[in-house]
Amino acid sequence: MANAENKPRKKMRTSTLRAITAAAVFVVVGIGLACATGTGTLSSIGWNSVAAICPLGALESLLGTKVIVARALIALAGVLIVILLVGKAFCSWVCPVPHFQNIFKSKKAKQAEAQACSEAADRSLKRWERGEDIRHQTIDSRHAVLGGALLSTAIFGFPVFCLVCPIGLIFATFILFWRLIQFNEPTIGLIVFPLILVIELLVFKRWCGVICPLGALMSLASKANTTFRPSVNAEMCLRSEGASCKACASACPERIDPVNNLGDRPIDECIRCKSCSDVCPVCAISFPLIARRNERKETEG
Ligand code: SF4
Ligand code: SF4
Repeated sequence: MANAENKPRKKMRTSTLRAITAAAVFVVVGIGLACATGTGTLSSIGWNSVAAICPLGALESLLGTKVIVARALIALAGVLIVILLVGKAFCSWVCPVPHFQNIFKSKKAKQAEAQACSEAADRSLKRWERGEDIRHQTIDSRHAVLGGALLSTAIFGFPVFCLVCPIGLIFATFILFWRLIQFNEPTIGLIVFPLILVIELLVFKRWCGVICPLGALMSLASKANTTFRPSVNAEMCLRSEGASCKACASACPERIDPVNNLGDRPIDECIRCKSCSDVCPVCAISFPLIARRNERKETEG
């Protein structure tokens, strides 16, 4: 009879790890609320004056008040350093929006998204086979929203976008529910905030890729990131043997092709979700501090 110890251990999927990490933020916020430590939420999370502030919120407060606040500048510099090190990892490991959006997505919408990613992978593979190059767009609709958010803040003197930011709405709802349970304090926000959130996430099905101004801000900074990028071992990759493998590119929610960077979107947009390395049949993808020369050449096309 098979002994339980002899059974191969199932590797925990990265998507599960990411969900646990995002949930851990709520645990930290909940502990902060229960113990009244003022830990804050993702808009500003930390301890007393040492806090990680949302970079968009920090920029908006600088623009809105038209006062140079040292704390906001230090927080911005801290966020910049993190992005230079791990790119847009926040988007898949910390931000709750993709997880909430997944809850509201129908099976049909999920299938359509998988189909779109597969088609993007096909396009990338064809470009590679034809020896074509691609000039990725530097800015897109998210950057227009970012510009609008900053401009409206400068005009009205307060961060207008923060009123509808889904991250803010998720945590505001969480806090109001907490207060309802702890202090029996019902407010209209308990209906309004989740309602705006659900409408936003249902209407803008590709919020992260098309609307998110925070993602736009991070994508600008992540162009300078060179560490912990997906790196493909050229000798291991099945494409080096002539196979038309596109498993990694098809699995990428950002429509990146980590093998040749000829996907619809550039490798700078990588959110370190590791979906590509999870599906690679030969485990050719890793996320090293610095890519080896042959790997870098392969991933940069
Ligand atoms: S390249 Fe890989 S790690 Fe980066 S976003 Fe795409 S699937 Fe995720
Ligand atoms: S999934 Fe692995 S083997 Fe297939 S193309 Fe991507 S890196 Fe190469």
